[in-house]
Amino acid sequence: MAKGILFILSGPSGVGKGTVCTALRGKIPELVYSVSATTRSPRLGEEDGVNYFFKSRDQFLNMMQNDQLLEHAEYVGNYYGTPRDFVEKTLLSGNDIILEIEVQGALQVKEKFPEGVFIFLLPPSLDELKDRIRGRGTENQATIDHRMSVAVDEINLMEHYDYAVVNDQIDSACKRIESIIVAEHCKVKR
Ligand code: 5GP
Repeated sequence: MAKGILFILSGPSGVGKGTVCTALRGKIPELVYSVSATTRSPRLGEEDGVNYFFKSRDQFLNMMQNDQLLEHAEYVGNYYGTPRDFVEKTLLSGNDIILEIEVQGALQVKEKFPEGVFIFLLPPSLDELKDRIRGRGTENQATIDHRMSVAVDEINLMEHYDYAVVNDQIDSACKRIESIIVAEHCKVKR
């Protein structure tokens, strides 16, 4: 059986990766989603095992030491990482899987899985990005400023990706990503 394809959806925080990813999963139910581990506290409405696996710092460090994470990154004071086993098993079973992760982590995945398909989600503009980070209403000013400066550094890393998708409208961004998924399945080398 052919292996599944690993898709990595990345880009600056606030660009709408989460929203686009959720919409995409609604349209392609067979696309498996990787639930990350994190040390940050749950936001209102977030559930353990659904949005994230919420871990203490010690639990997270333990996962790192036991090589249970495919990649990990420290982002604005918290750790985030992708559980390795689930990704590998999903691919071996012939299913596609999508990771929704920040840029440092995506670059680590590229070293381990160069055959992965790396999609960079871009904001229509930096002003728009700031509005979106603000609009979420869950972050204080210092965190917003920090996230903005991280975002500018991250956009500079776009050259390492296979595709760039502007998130002007969720629906159009989703359609472009769906087209990428179809095109990747049609590649002769696969
Ligand atoms: P948030 O705290 O807003 O849920 O996520 C912050 C950032 O961490 C987002 O850019 C999100 O995509 C990223 N992120 C979520 N899970 C992972 C992960 O497993 N690994 C990495 N490297 N980043 C992640």
